[in-house]
Amino acid sequence: MTLIDTHAHLYYDDIYNNLDRVLDEANKNDVKKIVCIGTDLSTSKQSVDIANKYDNVYAAVGIHPHDSKDTPKDYIKDLENLALSSKKVVAIGEIGIDHYRNISPKDIQEKVMIEQMELAESLSLPIIFHNRDADKDILEVLKRYPFDKALAHCYSSDISFAEKLLSLNVLLSFSGNVTFNNSINQSAIQNITLKDFVLETDCPFLAPQPFRGKPNEPKYVKDIALFVSNLLDIEFEEIAKETTNNAELFFKI
Ligand SMILES: [Zn+2]
Ligand SMILES: [Zn+2]
Repeated sequence: MTLIDTHAHLYYDDIYNNLDRVLDEANKNDVKKIVCIGTDLSTSKQSVDIANKYDNVYAAVGIHPHDSKDTPKDYIKDLENLALSSKKVVAIGEIGIDHYRNISPKDIQEKVMIEQMELAESLSLPIIFHNRDADKDILEVLKRYPFDKALAHCYSSDISFAEKLLSLNVLLSFSGNVTFNNSINQSAIQNITLKDFVLETDCPFLAPQPFRGKPNEPKYVKDIALFVSNLLDIEFEEIAKETTNNAELFFKI
């Protein structure tokens, strides 16, 4: 049995200081591969370092929309160098738009997302994007700018937006928030096919039920997969097999 955590931030203290234990417990819970995602230059570098140290950890490098206002002038060059520094770098992310908090101005968030999409194109790498309360703007950018492959991380919208993304060949990723009561994204996962999505924890945030509010870890991908298996009334083994296959094809891991 194999599960993959397609989105983890392993460099946060609580996880990083116990990384051997965290990865060991992930392994015992069938989570055999993990993609560690950067949110700025320094955490992108940390993600690459962790991926270089652990066989089953891969890295994505990128600037999160919150951090887009703080990017130095040559950040694309820096990201490119990081991406080229290791074969373990499998994507550009997380990039995106966040209107829930708008920590960076809207125009800067978009500009930095687009610049990173261009970088991903030039390196033939997939993008991983974050979208909070920004369905319309995300769709606009995806329609206007070319991308190789794209992953909608922590998919939190309804089925109608999911269909729009799927028509652009975007893969969806469901996190622990799909386990929350009456979560709107349940309507999405119930009406798409097993080819259309992968699973993630987004740890240390967003632990699934019944661990909501507690520290999150990659091992909880198993709990998310079990929840999805119940929700969709599909065997756990099949959920694991299909989501793992989707992630392996997407990231070439
Ligand atoms: Zn995110
Ligand atoms: Zn994240």
